[in-house]
Amino acid sequence: MRNLIIALMLLVLLPVGVNAAEAENVAPEGRKRVVVIDPGHGGPRPGKVMKDIAEEHYVLDVSKEVRKQLKTKMSDLEVYLTRSSDSAYHEKQAEDNKRRAEFANRKGADLYVSIHANAHEKTTVNGCEVWVLTLNERLMNQNQGQAARYADDGDFIAPEDIDRTSQGFMMAVARQLENEPFSRFFAEECCRNMSSYGLKNLGVKAGPVFTVLYYFEGPGVIVELAYLTNSEDYAYLSKKGSKTEMATAISDAIVSYFKALDGDASEPAESAEESTTESVEEAAPLTEGYTIQLISSTTEVDKSDYQFKEYKGRVELYMGTGRYKYKYCYGSYATREAAREELEHARKTFKDAYVVRFKDGNIVAK
Ligand SMILES: [Zn+2]
Repeated sequence: MRNLIIALMLLVLLPVGVNAAEAENVAPEGRKRVVVIDPGHGGPRPGKVMKDIAEEHYVLDVSKEVRKQLKTKMSDLEVYLTRSSDSAYHEKQAEDNKRRAEFANRKGADLYVSIHANAHEKTTVNGCEVWVLTLNERLMNQNQGQAARYADDGDFIAPEDIDRTSQGFMMAVARQLENEPFSRFFAEECCRNMSSYGLKNLGVKAGPVFTVLYYFEGPGVIVELAYLTNSEDYAYLSKKGSKTEMATAISDAIVSYFKALDGDASEPAESAEESTTESVEEAAPLTEGYTIQLISSTTEVDKSDYQFKEYKGRVELYMGTGRYKYKYCYGSYATREAAREELEHARKTFKDAYVVRFKDGNIVAK
């Protein structure tokens, strides 16, 4: 509440500063949008290590693949990596994180994505999650315990070390309120995409004041791919092709994010595409395209099961990878966007429904 009051005061007192921050979310005419990808760790800090996988190397490979994919998916996007070798900015963790954020600021990043792998003292904990910055008092304190146990020293600023009266903090609060919806939109998109490869979706989390996010001035997230303390997640991460899949999940989320920012401008084109897609769907079932996954299961479920009553006769079974390999889906669409149009309706009954890509009866990577 106190943060909110301070931020509201700033909105009144500092209209110029706040407007400038807002304007950064929409690239001015002619300016290319910029994404900074931060492969976590490197140099003296390998991050989490499980058997033959070291976080620093894994996330660097994924980051490079994200950059490579974005070159073809969104050629007008400028993509920078905070590091492209086994290096760090500073020997001290806190300073290193801060400099990564400052690098992104200098590049004028519209979106900042820091990529990591996770760890937990309970080896049964698994799945993917994405963190956004919060300066909400309750959330900062609530998730502090978890961060203190699993983050490296200097990865976050302890609530008691934050000077709530400093101008820097007040500006950070104003920025955070401005950026959080954007960060969350990307985070949700990213979680959904990653979990389509069989990882458990642990969702979007807002937690301690991560230095790597705190010093960045735009929307930003920390992507935690999977747990390097869990054998199931390890099996996924060590699987051939998993780096490409994770990169696809992230790069697709980046593309969706910028498309959503441009939403109003491209609306006429989208509705044209939608009507074309619908007529294609009527004419012949697609052998590949996009569908809405309603549920996934470890065992086969009867397609006439009561839970599908609303989609009776229209539920399709696709096969995926991972433990929840039976994917029950609805609809087939030529584009991800067309499938999304239907998603809202599906979520009224299946709140975790999301869009996946299929080919010849299987759920596949893009
Ligand atoms: Zn990490």
